[in-house]
Amino acid sequence: MHVPFLWYTMMFGLACCWVLFSGCERQDEVHREQIVALGTIVEINLWGVDKERAHRATAAVADEFSRLHQRWHAWEPSTLTVINDRLRKGQSITIDEESKALLSQAKALSLASESLFNPAIGELIALWGFHSDDAPSGPPPDPTTLEAFVSKSITMKGLIFENDTVRSIDPSLQLDLGGFAKGHAVDVAIAQLREMGIKNAIVNAGGDLRAIGRKGNRPWRIGVRDPRSNGIIVSVETHDDESVFTSGDYERYHEYQGKRYHHIIDPRNGYPARGSTSVTVIHRDAATADAAATALFIAGPEHWQSIAEKMGVEYVMLIDQNDTAFLSAAMAERIRFEVEPPPRTVVQLL
Ligand code: ADP
Ligand code: MG
Repeated sequence: MHVPFLWYTMMFGLACCWVLFSGCERQDEVHREQIVALGTIVEINLWGVDKERAHRATAAVADEFSRLHQRWHAWEPSTLTVINDRLRKGQSITIDEESKALLSQAKALSLASESLFNPAIGELIALWGFHSDDAPSGPPPDPTTLEAFVSKSITMKGLIFENDTVRSIDPSLQLDLGGFAKGHAVDVAIAQLREMGIKNAIVNAGGDLRAIGRKGNRPWRIGVRDPRSNGIIVSVETHDDESVFTSGDYERYHEYQGKRYHHIIDPRNGYPARGSTSVTVIHRDAATADAAATALFIAGPEHWQSIAEKMGVEYVMLIDQNDTAFLSAAMAERIRFEVEPPPRTVVQLL
């Protein structure tokens, strides 16, 4: 692991991206504040904003994140748990415009991913014990229970919108927005900052981020976490307005008898997806980048290209279980490896 020594990095416990600074630039031109939100540490970096305004902007984002937390949390009482209760009872639910927009976006992204990103499998995620603040333990779910769930082929196609209502065609359809809510929240925060007239910022939620503008006369520079160490595998400069999202098998897992069962579940068989260890996506909007990173992780080294194309994602890096880095041609032109020697890479056209 080699990181040029002039850089220092702001490191979160398990973050998958870091904002990088070179030693020769003045840190004090960037106002940086951290808040605890969305179950992670959110860091807001603002450039070219005086301290007082920056502080006000960060506080406004913090308020908005706690509102979103109360709306979309998968297991703490929230708007989402109310919706799920009523879906379970087969009822039709009146929803507001905000909920409708978010759930419609989740449905569209899910369909584009051929249901690999499948926020309708909340029941399956709960079976694995991930609807808890604590790391799950104990034996993995019974295979027949998993098979029974998978055989129902629950997808977002079964979530039906009619005017201002939503219902589902199967009571087992339970929403879990864990694969995309962070992206949505980051998009909302960036829109909020822009409304306050802020043009140069990064909102970094536990390592997944959206960057707008620049840091003075330089682009923002991001380091992506190496899935098998705590260091940086690649660095990338963001262009104007881009999100960098990573899904990794190291983020959350269920451990039993020395075996790890991570939290990205393949809806086709009900088990943690195999083949990938991390997927990084760069895309303009954070919600798409977040959903795509989850979907491409599941698609794995053999199928990621077709799913990326369907989701309209151009920049992808997938690291497989043999530490080979599969890169879209566009991504290969953007990144710089920060490990010595660099991993074996396979560059593929979409
Ligand atoms: P991260 O935790 O790094 O943000 P992801 O964005 O990939 O990782 O989200 C993982 C979360 O998404 C899981 O904890 C779970 O809540 C949910 N999830 C797991 N499998 C799927 C899937 N196939 N489709 C949609 N959401 C999923
Ligand atoms: Mg995701």
